[in-house]
Order: sequence, then C-alpha cells, then structure tokens
Amino acid sequence: MTDYKSVNEKVGGRASIVAVSKFHPYEAVVEAYNEGAMIFGENRVQEMRDKFPPKNERPEGMKVYLIGQLQRNKVRKALEWCDRIESVDSIPLIDKIEKECEAMDIFIDILLEFNSSGEEQKSGFRTEAELLSGVKHILEDCPRVIIRGVMTVGPLGHDDEKNREAFQKTASLYEQVRKAVPSADTLSMGMSGDWETALLYGSTEVRIGTAIFGERDYPAKP
Ligand SMILES: *Cc1c(COP(=O)(O)O)cnc(C)c1O
Repeated sequence: MTDYKSVNEKVGGRASIVAVSKFHPYEAVVEAYNEGAMIFGENRVQEMRDKFPPKNERPEGMKVYLIGQLQRNKVRKALEWCDRIESVDSIPLIDKIEKECEAMDIFIDILLEFNSSGEEQKSGFRTEAELLSGVKHILEDCPRVIIRGVMTVGPLGHDDEKNREAFQKTASLYEQVRKAVPSADTLSMGMSGDWETALLYGSTEVRIGTAIFGERDYPAKP
C-alpha cells in the first residue's frame, strides 16, 4: 500500500497529482496505480526506462512525466519513453527536442521550468525574460513542441515566506505565458512539503513523492 489515497483525498481535486516514483521500484508504481494514480514522475531518463515498460505496454492510462534536468544527448531516449517533459530549461534543449520530434514524427507536451528561488544549484530558466524568450522561440520555430505551461521547484527548506514569494512569481509568469499560448493549462508547483502553499497560488499540478511512497533510499555515497 502507498499513501496515494490519503494524498488524493487531501488534494481534493484542486490539482492533478504527479506521483513521483524516483528511487522506488515498479511494484510501488503498480500499487499506487491500483489505488488510482495515473501520472508518474521520474527524474532520470535511464531510471525511467529501466523501471517503466514501453509506452504501448503500460497499464491503461498510465503516464510518465520527466521532471528532472535533461541533457541534450538524452533527448531521444527521453522522447521514446515519456509522455511529457516538465523540465525544459534552455533554448538549445528546445531546439534539440524539436529536431528529434521531427525525426521521430511525433509531438511532445512540455513545461518550461522556472528557477523561482534563484538558488544556484537549481535548474530552470533564470529570469522571467529568458523563459518568455523560450516561449517566443517555440511559438515561432518549434511546431512539434507543445507548451502546456510552467513548472517550478520551490526553495530549499521550509521558509514559508520564501515559498510564497517563489510561487507568487511563478504564478504571475504563468499568467503571462497563458496570454500568449492557448495550449497552456498547467502550473506545476508544490511537492510533499509545500503543496498546500502552492495551491494557494493557483497551482494546477502538484508533484508528490515522499508523501505517497515514503522516504527514498538514496544509494550510499562511497
Ligand atoms: C523529487 C521531486 C519531487 C517530489 O519531491 P517530494 O518532496 O518527495 O514530494 C517533485 N518535483 C521534482 C522536480 C523532484 O525532483
């Protein structure tokens, strides 16, 4: 059993839920799926491919979103396996995704990731202007890249004030994106520790790992 049902109850339909299954085995994914979870989130391309069956062999309706930083040389491998890329963070990456989609003759839904906390170690577009130039670039030159919205990871730690500031900034950026992009319907923010705050700022999608699957067993550092 996972805690998907209780999380789902608490979220109460206010946002969709990405069940973040990184570092947990496929058996846990199947348990959550049997409890009603449909969308799963993975950070790494290789782990996603090792864990999940290919798209056409998955249980009915099961989707996998890539939520971790994507290197350009892994774009093809990512596109073969995932249903959405939520962590698009640069124009060179956008160009690579467009090129591979063209070669594969597919379209892909994406979110543009915003570094709303300004923390160095975080990925995502660094400024609103850079993210909006990514939007413009996609609209003008990348017909196979479908913008579904904006994603952010809140600041480290549990400073509620900082969380609110980051979510507020991201929400107003999302509003700007939405004005320019009819396909944008997703503001992805909020994780196990801060999703209730994120909902106050209009999040439409929360990405929840620990609260559903428990603590992750990270491999021991040598
Ligand atoms: C791991 C991860 C999550 C889930 O974090 P929890 O705190 O375990 O809920 C959400 N989003 C991203 C991008 C992550 O890497």
